[in-house]
Amino acid sequence: MIPYGRQQISDADIQAVVEVLKSDYLTQGPAVPAFENAVAAYCGAGHAVAVNSATSALHLACLALGVRAGDFVWTSPITFVASANCALYCGAEVDFVDIDPSTCNISVQALAEKLHRAEQSGRLPKVVIPVHLCGLPCDMAEIHRLSKRYGFRILEDASHAIGGKYRDQPIGNCRYSDISVFSFHPVKIITTGEGGMALTNDSLLAKRMTLLRSHGITREAAEMTHEADGPWYYQQIELGFNYRMTDLQAALGLSQLKRLDAFVARRHRLAGFYRQYLAGLPVVPQSQPDDCYSAFHLFVIRLQNSDCKMPHREVFCRLRDAGIGVNLHYIPVHLQPYYRQRGFKPGDFPQAERYYAEALTLPLYPDLSEAQQLHVIATLRASV
Ligand SMILES: *Cc1c(COP(=O)(O)O)cnc(C)c1O
Repeated sequence: MIPYGRQQISDADIQAVVEVLKSDYLTQGPAVPAFENAVAAYCGAGHAVAVNSATSALHLACLALGVRAGDFVWTSPITFVASANCALYCGAEVDFVDIDPSTCNISVQALAEKLHRAEQSGRLPKVVIPVHLCGLPCDMAEIHRLSKRYGFRILEDASHAIGGKYRDQPIGNCRYSDISVFSFHPVKIITTGEGGMALTNDSLLAKRMTLLRSHGITREAAEMTHEADGPWYYQQIELGFNYRMTDLQAALGLSQLKRLDAFVARRHRLAGFYRQYLAGLPVVPQSQPDDCYSAFHLFVIRLQNSDCKMPHREVFCRLRDAGIGVNLHYIPVHLQPYYRQRGFKPGDFPQAERYYAEALTLPLYPDLSEAQQLHVIATLRASV
């Protein structure tokens, strides 16, 4: 089976992890801060906090931004459930903003209209979570402008987008947001096995996320409520978690980071190849605005169902039967049973639901060969 995505592990990656295994610290050693500093420098962000998943990073980010019961958090319905769940962890309410049918990212027009209505009903969001779907940056300048007008904070779910650029600047620099989050799950652009990171230019947000990453415990005298009992002393000053990244993971990430630009360049080459060979078929790839450089975590096409020989589901099954691990990113979050229980229903976000009836993720990862790609294209050509 050709998977839709997979990691690339080099001898240097393996060596980097082996070095940590032979060292004094498997966790909380020197590799984690080295990885944090390297990613912060790559992105041009002031601070980076490494954690054990992007889900944990989203949770800590919401907590640091003060999300709590009574607050509203908005995101796109076309995302992984973690983008919405993070707000529920904090006791807040989640709502969604429909997508733009061409970029498949959150629609800034729908966002502006919903904000206008929310202002009148006194239900403005505390935080909006734009998701850079497939690695394609959202229209951040416009979302940022709306945040100033309506007073919400911005948390970028950049789980797909490390290595991408918006207006020639790296995603993750937080130029238009408070916090950006990356995922290092093996299908993402670079991997640490499991892992995530939150980036910010705000030192207080970074400090708070660092504290909450490890039980809410501090060893810094300046943060303690009273004088230390002795040199062994630490204080728990908040209720935190164990969301730490290990040194084994960070060493792998640091080694992978060296190939990040090459990975993204390769993904662009393969995506270009798909776009060229899909021309003339009744399928539409995600549009690529001029001011965006996607990280191309995923290559999604939308079937023009009325022009296709077979229904969407049948096309999907034919590709799977031919050994091609197509996927569907994503089932609209508001249609998940858990969210339906919370009051969402079909019809709430028509563009997202239409997308769901048309979308197909084709395999895309650095080691995908052009021969494999031709097999994907030939099989698709016979089905649509
Ligand atoms: C993968 C992903 C996450 C969660 O990442 P983990 O590191 O697996 O927790 C969150 N949001 C989006 C959009 C993702 O694709």
